[in-house]
Amino acid sequence: TTAKGPDPERTEVLVGIKHKILILSGKGGVGKSTFTSQFAFALSSDEDLEVGVVDVDICGPSIPKIMGCENEQIHTSGKGWTPVYIQDNLSVMSIGFMLPSNDDAVIWRGPKKNGLIKQFLKDVDWCDESRPLDFLLFDTPPGTSDEHLSIVQFLRESQITGAVLITTPQEVALQDVRKEIDFCRKAKIPILGVVENMAGFVCPNCHGESKIFYPTTGGAKSLCDELGIPLLGSIPLDPSIGKACDFGSSFVDTNPDSPATKAYQSIIKNI
Ligand code: ADP
Repeated sequence: TTAKGPDPERTEVLVGIKHKILILSGKGGVGKSTFTSQFAFALSSDEDLEVGVVDVDICGPSIPKIMGCENEQIHTSGKGWTPVYIQDNLSVMSIGFMLPSNDDAVIWRGPKKNGLIKQFLKDVDWCDESRPLDFLLFDTPPGTSDEHLSIVQFLRESQITGAVLITTPQEVALQDVRKEIDFCRKAKIPILGVVENMAGFVCPNCHGESKIFYPTTGGAKSLCDELGIPLLGSIPLDPSIGKACDFGSSFVDTNPDSPATKAYQSIIKNI
């Protein structure tokens, strides 16, 4: 049962996964789920990589919509829940698949949520023995809540590779990154680095670049320098990213030459 905590045998399922990466953000709305989805698409464009996404945002699961698998059903087998495959080498699991309607809100108190998260992590059959995952990305809720502690507690058994922290260039978002860093250090999660999202906007007409947020790009870089953490990359604001997400399609595959796609590719190299 969930109350007893992780079952050591079942965490073995995650041990075979090469890289388990938590995607964290101090605030909602900075683009964490967007980053998770497009990063997964960018990774899986290498056919030799097996990639999985798990949406642990119990109260706001948006991954099924933005990855175009909203109406899928998940199936169970003797080995647990089978994730939804959206490409041969890209699978997705979300609490959203278990809700009766896309509009239903999940209002649960901490212990029930934590029980579900552990069950969720424990019972998904990610590792088909012949093809273990290379990357499993965890899209988490914003902030550092009970859910994060549950995930970290569960994953400790199978070792988290590290966390990627998503922020916008805004001072108020950067302040929250400090809290995330503090959380990672206390929870002993390696920090892979920071991604600055919506870092600037290139006008499609005049091609001039505008800074959207005060204090303009550069805040994340100085924060990273100050705290000794890598800045993995800066992704520009591109309305086509939002559009691709609304249609559940891959921005990086359909816009291979855009600056945002190049930013995703360089983040893969920097990780
Ligand atoms: P979070 O998961 O942090 O709450 P989302 O990923 O849902 O944030 O993103 C919030 C909104 O910003 C969405 O409407 C998304 O389409 C948009 N968005 C995120 N990143 C970008 C970007 N680089 N360019 C344009 N729109 C973006």
